[in-house]
Amino acid sequence: MQTELTTADVGRFFDEKGDMLAELMGGNIHFAYWTGDDDDSGFAEATDRLTDHMIELLDARPGERVLDLGCGRGRPAVRLARAVPDLRIVGISVSTKDIAAATELAAAAGVADRVRFEFADAMALPFAAGSFDAVWAVESLLHMPDRRTVLRGIADVLRPGGRLALCDVSATEPDTEAGRAALAETLKGWMVHSLTDLDGYRELIADAGLRVTGAIDVSHRTRYSKAKVTELLARSVADSGLSFAEIDLPPEVWDQAFAVFEQMGYLIVTAERPAV
Ligand code: SAH
Repeated sequence: MQTELTTADVGRFFDEKGDMLAELMGGNIHFAYWTGDDDDSGFAEATDRLTDHMIELLDARPGERVLDLGCGRGRPAVRLARAVPDLRIVGISVSTKDIAAATELAAAAGVADRVRFEFADAMALPFAAGSFDAVWAVESLLHMPDRRTVLRGIADVLRPGGRLALCDVSATEPDTEAGRAALAETLKGWMVHSLTDLDGYRELIADAGLRVTGAIDVSHRTRYSKAKVTELLARSVADSGLSFAEIDLPPEVWDQAFAVFEQMGYLIVTAERPAV
């Protein structure tokens, strides 16, 4: 599955929709991680829970330098900075609004001295070889034109022994023609370039010269029912003061999106650059 999207399209999408998405999701632009069917947390808590899971898996240590590849509005990076003392984080995005909002958030959180954000394309990383101890990509690779190029770039900027943690929507193949069309349409609307699965990642990571240290399917944690999302969205909309009109998604688009989201899988992969 491959769509014709340019990086400028993706940047524009996050410029225009990022505030609204972050507002609805408590500052994060990524899936929620539910503890089970009886989990009654809101989006903010459940999306932070995915970040916390990633923080644990990244296993960053005090004093290390981390690259946040696709930083969104900055909430995951600031949360990571607060979790690990003395961590230095550089977040990148192709949305100028992301950079401005994330920079402001880091200042408000009092971590601006160790967390900074800059406009850069993950397809051509402007960093020296071996200059990071760890890289994380929280639900961002799906928007990038070519995972192979991005993962090779990540391997290059990681020092030997450096670590990668990523999470991503996983490819699913609906079993009907209508299902496949709805999926393609939804992915296009969300600026998704392509999806892959755990086997795809294993191959891509090996190709980049990295070694997979963990590959897990967490679809049972991220999948949610239409009833639940409808209820939570209504709560978020009420809390944020937004109106559904401002969100600007007609009911038929929501219906289609829910049908697709209910089937979507989710994966987490960790890897390391072998210490030569
Ligand atoms: N990690 C954040 C944001 C996820 S949304 C969070 O979890 O909240 C995806 C992010 O990837 C957006 O910030 C988008 O601008 C960024 N992105 C997409 N394509 C990119 C590219 N080619 N290079 C750098 N960032 C990119």
